[in-house]
Amino acid sequence: MTLYLHDTAARAVREFTPITPGQASVYLCGATVQAPPHIGHLRSAVVFDVLIRWLEASGYRVTFCRNVTDIEDKILRTAQAEGVPPWIVAERNQRAFTWAYDALGCRPPDVEPRATGHIPEMIVLIRRLIEGRHAYAGGRDVYFDVHSYPEYGALSGQRLDQMRPAEDADDAPGTDSAKRDPRDFTLWKGAKPGEPFWETPWGPGRPGWHLECSAMAVKYLGPAFDIHGGGMDLIFPHHENEIAQSRSAGDGFARYWMHNGLLGLAGEKMSKSLGNSLLVTDVLRRVRAPELRYYLVQAHYRSLLEYSEDALAEAAAAYQRIERFVVRASEVLMGAADDDGAPGLPPSFRSAMDEDLGVPAALAVVHAWVRDGNLALGAADKTAVRASLVQVRAMLDVLGLDPLAPPWAGGSGSADRLHDVVGSLVKLTLGQRDAARARRDYATADAIRDSLDEMGIGVEDTPEGPRWELKQ
Ligand SMILES: [Zn+2]
Repeated sequence: MTLYLHDTAARAVREFTPITPGQASVYLCGATVQAPPHIGHLRSAVVFDVLIRWLEASGYRVTFCRNVTDIEDKILRTAQAEGVPPWIVAERNQRAFTWAYDALGCRPPDVEPRATGHIPEMIVLIRRLIEGRHAYAGGRDVYFDVHSYPEYGALSGQRLDQMRPAEDADDAPGTDSAKRDPRDFTLWKGAKPGEPFWETPWGPGRPGWHLECSAMAVKYLGPAFDIHGGGMDLIFPHHENEIAQSRSAGDGFARYWMHNGLLGLAGEKMSKSLGNSLLVTDVLRRVRAPELRYYLVQAHYRSLLEYSEDALAEAAAAYQRIERFVVRASEVLMGAADDDGAPGLPPSFRSAMDEDLGVPAALAVVHAWVRDGNLALGAADKTAVRASLVQVRAMLDVLGLDPLAPPWAGGSGSADRLHDVVGSLVKLTLGQRDAARARRDYATADAIRDSLDEMGIGVEDTPEGPRWELKQ
């Protein structure tokens, strides 16, 4: 079996041949922690979690590095608006991201470096670029000279003379900029009053966004590594600039560039302006975590995933079909299927995943096995049930969707179940209260309500009937 991956730089699907046989190194541009994550942010995390799982299932030993951008214009603006230091904003939102990654079953990376923890590495990189005449200090900033790197624009398929100016410095019309060319981008920003800064040979300042990934990827994965990933919105300028910096400094850098499609809302890229309804915490009030993961995983990773509530509900229903089979089959077999050792995966699933992570086709294989498994359950054919369950769970493990594996099993799954059971009991009790009211026994009806209240269950009568919730 051979793995093929789409390489943005080659504009083609290429056979994956790692630098070191049997090993794979992956760098993913992680979050800019300026706000809590919405589900668009999590698509990238989930997509690359599946890549890591598939590389491991294919026998590779994977080193996975995902950075955190904890110093950046938007973080500084938020901090200023709130009247707090920038690190308070960054820490708070990084925790929110970590919570969301965990909630959606994304396994933690081997290393999660933060930009502010790697200023010395960035200073060394700038020095190398200046010495090689690829960068220059201008005013209080340091810029990368895009004319010094002849392949600039190759990743995004643009010619230098057609590019827009880099929008990364105070070079808006009417302001002074020491850039030699408006397309030169900022490696280092001179400090403005009140901003955090680090002392450098070029004066006090802070890093530009692009520099950190070049410095950190090489620190943790070496001058050349296998796969660099991120959302398609990062191809230009971020990844174009990463390549320019790293190659100019003499590093081989990434050999494959993988980009996931974005999550769209009515054709528009998801952004903060859409409000909070798509925050991960908010969506997880409407669907369970594995259902949200299923939704984010089911489309091909390079496609634009157009968000709709209906599509989310459909994904939840599809996941529930799989989950019902897995739960029922395990109950019938009483866990015996766990003892079968590492199962092989169906060849059709393998070939789907090997073809540039063809998750839609791979999920079709899962659903076919679930259908067969349900028939076997109906026929009480335990051998066939066991065969289906083992295969289905092995495939789901690759996708991070096995209902009986962490984090779903025993975690949110059992909490959901408990919630359902409590809901049924409350409904039963409210039925008795209704019956008491119907026979004008208001004392009993009130006593039932008071008892629920003492248990911490608040009941509210609405035109659609009574609603309940656990009181804080
Ligand atoms: Zn990056």
